[in-house]
Amino acid sequence: MQGFEKYYRKTWHERLEILNKHTISDEQVKILKDGAKNPELGETMIENFISEYHLPEGVALNLVVNGIEYLVPMATEEPSVIAAASHGGSIVKKSGGFKAETKSRLMIGQVVLENVSDVSEMQKELELLEKDILKVANDAHPSIVRRGGGARSVKLKILADDLLALYLAVDVKEAMGANMLNTMLEATAEFLKAKLKADVLFAILSNYATDSLVSAKCSIGVETLAKNGVDGCEIARKIAQASRVAQLDPYRAATHNKGIMNGIDACVLASGNDWRAVEAGAHAYAARSGRYRGLSTWNYDEKKQVLEGELTLPLALGSVGGSISIVPLVSVNRQILQNADAKTLGEIVCSLGLAQNLAALYALVTDGIQKGHMRLQLKSLAKSVGATADETKFLVKEMEKRKVRDSVHAKEILEEMRE
Ligand code: NDP
Repeated sequence: MQGFEKYYRKTWHERLEILNKHTISDEQVKILKDGAKNPELGETMIENFISEYHLPEGVALNLVVNGIEYLVPMATEEPSVIAAASHGGSIVKKSGGFKAETKSRLMIGQVVLENVSDVSEMQKELELLEKDILKVANDAHPSIVRRGGGARSVKLKILADDLLALYLAVDVKEAMGANMLNTMLEATAEFLKAKLKADVLFAILSNYATDSLVSAKCSIGVETLAKNGVDGCEIARKIAQASRVAQLDPYRAATHNKGIMNGIDACVLASGNDWRAVEAGAHAYAARSGRYRGLSTWNYDEKKQVLEGELTLPLALGSVGGSISIVPLVSVNRQILQNADAKTLGEIVCSLGLAQNLAALYALVTDGIQKGHMRLQLKSLAKSVGATADETKFLVKEMEKRKVRDSVHAKEILEEMRE
């Protein structure tokens, strides 16, 4: 685009001036400037920095994981998410909280070889090189070895007649590990090129982090589920049925999982971690059977009178690295999270996802999702039609009374109120 040549080399103020000249008003420049609380940091973090995008942040309450109660910082724009997480957490808290575990914590990356004339032969040659490959990978990032981590294993897979993948599993200790793994993989690729004259197509980590699986479970006494005269057993039965539907129907599974990720993404973001990586891994895992399914399952045990929930997903999270150590708000959020290490953070996040899922299913099979959701959504609607903070209170009440859910009617009521 004309006028934007070498835009990345301009200063922040120059970039805003150029935008001002081509597209945005003086007032809008002011919005960008006011939004940037720490432009120096922003410029070091990304290219073409113009401002900071802010999301509301809140804390979810009542989340008990492995006997410890956590306050969970969550950054989200969706009105009902934090209320639902706290509600789900409070139901499980009455029955002792979540039990969570980390099955393993290794990051996987791959080097893909192409134009392989005999893939079986190449596989054999690579098997013989396992020790050398581990050494090359570790030599490329000695600091992680000093921390007690490093490359652990090599696996191979024939992808096609001409394509072969090498998977490297690395203990990345407290980091998410994307950058350190990519460094190790690129060194491995160079080694394979030199040693075997192999054609390397690419070398990069995988977000399908199946060696970083985290599970959370809960067992809820059905008596705690009763609501408005509806028996807890009936609610438990319906939650289990809804969970079955998410296993059978991808249309439901996508929404079921979106509800889980509402909580997970919000905390992953607040903790300075890479939520796109977590999303990619979660959905790939949901399709591991060859069919996309709900990530969590709920089972009603009639004999024991309990509702049992379980969620397992790949969670490659870090307590150091990336933006974690450089963004001041992340340090505050880490403090709120009791400075959880990477493993504990994964267990908190997984439990939060299950709490979020429980709250959604509970609402779905009782009042319907709109009742609680809309009360909060109406506040945003009121704001979007121009209500002040004082007006919002009355407008929301009035919209609830008149069952108004759209901006045309909301505006009409606001105008009535102002007359
Ligand atoms: P970093 O590149 O920041 O590496 C981790 C850093 O943490 C290193 O500098 C390491 O120090 C330091 N560190 C301090 N203490 C420890 C410890 N106890 N254990 C481990 N490391 C420690 O981050 P990652 O390698 O974790 O990569 C994460 C970033 O990569 C994220 O920002 C992500 O968005 C991005 N990314 C993601 C991709 C994807 O998901 N596909 C692809 C590429 C990047 P030392 O050097 O001394 O070991």
